[in-house]
This record gives sequence, C-alpha cells and structure tokens, in this order.
Amino acid sequence: MTAVAHTRDTLPAARGRVALVPTMGALHAGHAALIRRARREVGPEGTVMVSVFVNPTQFAAGEDLDRYPRTLGADVEVCAEEGADVVFAPSAAEVYGPSGTFRADSVTVDPGPLADRWEGAARPGHFRGVLTVVLKLFGLTRPDVAVFGEKDYQQLVLVSRMVEDLSLPLTIVGEPTVRDVDGLALSSRNRYLSAQERSVAGALPRSLDALAAASSHGAGAALAAGLAVLEAEPGVAVDYLDLVAPDLGEAPESGPARVLLAARVGATRLLDTRAVDVGPAAGR
Ligand code: AMP
Repeated sequence: MTAVAHTRDTLPAARGRVALVPTMGALHAGHAALIRRARREVGPEGTVMVSVFVNPTQFAAGEDLDRYPRTLGADVEVCAEEGADVVFAPSAAEVYGPSGTFRADSVTVDPGPLADRWEGAARPGHFRGVLTVVLKLFGLTRPDVAVFGEKDYQQLVLVSRMVEDLSLPLTIVGEPTVRDVDGLALSSRNRYLSAQERSVAGALPRSLDALAAASSHGAGAALAAGLAVLEAEPGVAVDYLDLVAPDLGEAPESGPARVLLAARVGATRLLDTRAVDVGPAAGR
C-alpha cells in the first residue's frame, strides 16, 4: 500500500467519530457552515476533517481547472477558526498516482443515469470524476459522516445514492445554502464576477423567489415565473431551470419539490437550488 492509503492511521488527531467536509478550497462562509455542521455531527470528542483538493477529473477540457482559485493558506485559517481538527490537502499525484488523473485503465465510479442530466449534460464526465474522488476521499479518511452543501443539489443526491447503492459505511448529511445579502448563493466562482456581473447575478435568487411565489399554481406556472425573471436580465444566459422531485425524479403535481438552476453570467457558470412546495397545498 502507498503512504496515502494510510492517511487515516497517520492523522494526528483521529479520535472519536470522524466527519469529513470535502471541498475544492477557496473557502467561504458556505464552507464554514459545513464545518460547523460537521462538528455538531461528531460532537466535541469527534474529529472534523476538511479536504481541500481541486479534483482534475471532474473538470472537462476547456473548463476552469487551471484558473480555479487556490488559497490554501487562507483556507487553513478558516478551518482553524471554525474548529476543524485536520486539513487534508493532497496533491493530484497523491490522489491519483504519478499521472495526477485517471489512467486509461483506471477503475472509476459509474454515476448512473441521474448523472446524464442537468450538470451532467452540461459537463460530460463531471459526476464520474466527482463520485470517484469522493469515494477515494472516503477511503483515505474513513469518515463516519460526510457533509455536503445543498447548493450543489444534484451532487448531494448522487453522493447519497452512491453511499446507499454501494452500501458504504457512512452517513451523508446536507447543509442548507449560505447566501450573500442579495440572496446570491456563495460560491468560490463568484470571485470571477466583475462588479457589474455580480449585480446581474442577483437575478438568480430573485428568479427562485418568483418561482416559489407562483408554486401554488403548479410546476408549469412556477417555472414560467422563474424563467421570466431570468429572461428579463440580458446579462444572464440560462443553462437550465427545472423542477424535480427531491430525489431528482419527476416533479410531483403537488408536494415537496426542488428547483435546479444553472446560468451563465459573462463567462462564469453559477448554480442555485431551492426547496419548494408545488400545487394547491403550497403556501397554505
Ligand atoms: P466546492 O468547494 O465548491 O466544491 O464545495 C464544497 C462543498 O461546499 C460542497 O458540498 C458544496 O455544495 C458546499 N457549498 C458550496 N457553496 C456553498 C454555500 N453557499 N452554502 C453551503 N454549502 C456550500
């Protein structure tokens, strides 16, 4: 076995139950909320680990892998402030071997058909990379619980399904999205936005508000209301706005549902999501 395979055994502070917060770094208040949630999950006697790894295999050619913000020094400070015990920031070679990425003969996770739509359609191969690195991080750190953000909702569902379908011995918990004052979901990619683009991006949360406000009239009316807000903002290019069941199945005629939104503002792709109740009972 390589040294990496012993990570958990060699960690200085592995004690009690272990919670893992996987991130790509450039940490913000959304990540901080995940770290605090991880601490609540394992208690003061447990160990909170934060991984910081910009995973090459979840980026398609031509995406922002090379310019993705890397701020490890500041990230370690955030982790310390939020009470994390361990920051695990491996190199690509430590995770994947000398090639630093998948080899032609690598065994990888098949993310199944839920990965073909939404983010998976826009970013071919994305979820194969995500689930494979998440499984590797689970193997390296052996957590009892791992915390993911609802913001990347399709990712949260797919990771939960991987744990269930592959009978992995840990629990996945989802944490609500932390937002800026105008409602924009915090994201490491927000720092790509110019001041003008940042103001335009406020249309995303506004469209989710409009959609939720119309949700008692059914899925079609709700989506139309949300889309109208986005289409009124010329600086926004919508990739998808959809309403689905909480498990990514077909949207119910009434009851709990989930909005999935991806849109581009300038060259920056932004995601958002929101839980809504659709149909006549909504808002009662
Ligand atoms: P990332 O570093 O962007 O890969 O995100 C790492 C984790 O933080 C993922 O589980 C994300 O869903 C989560 N996350 C990102 N932004 C937010 C946010 N604004 N609020 C809550 N969680 C978030």
